[in-house]
Amino acid sequence: MKRSDSHQPHGNCLALFEKLSEYIDRELDAPTCKDIEAHIQDCKPCQVCMGTLKQTIELCKHLDHRNVPETFHRKLKDAISNLTEKHSG
Ligand SMILES: [Zn+2]
Repeated sequence: MKRSDSHQPHGNCLALFEKLSEYIDRELDAPTCKDIEAHIQDCKPCQVCMGTLKQTIELCKHLDHRNVPETFHRKLKDAISNLTEKHSG
């Protein structure tokens, strides 16, 4: 059985996106990180999202850390809805 042959539903990505911020902050277990990395390698939308996330986080690090979550989650949701909108239809 080859799992990577079939195109996975994008719902999978949404679940991942929710973990991405923890992943980038290295708050996740190694197995979970590997899961995410494996998915991202095969998933262009997630690669793009990951890049955006990292940039956002780098920017946030220069700001007051307490101000991060609101902006960050808003940007994240924007990115997600952009990706999912392009996918459906
Ligand atoms: Zn994905």
